[in-house]
Amino acid sequence: MRMMCPHCKQNAYTRHSGQLTTDSRETIFQCRNFKCGHVFSKVAEINRTVIAAAIEDRPPCA
Ligand SMILES: [Zn+2]
Repeated sequence: MRMMCPHCKQNAYTRHSGQLTTDSRETIFQCRNFKCGHVFSKVAEINRTVIAAAIEDRPPCA
């Protein structure tokens, strides 16, 4: 996933990604501009159902 650095507007690359909750995931980005070096995070979250699932909910993993 590409993301633009909010400081220098260069591309940033994904350093790490991890599940926060069943509905959200955090991704850590690092700016490709070595003079900038900004590291920042983005949280992606499911906000609505577009088409309902055809099966019942599965219990969370232990
Ligand atoms: Zn930058």
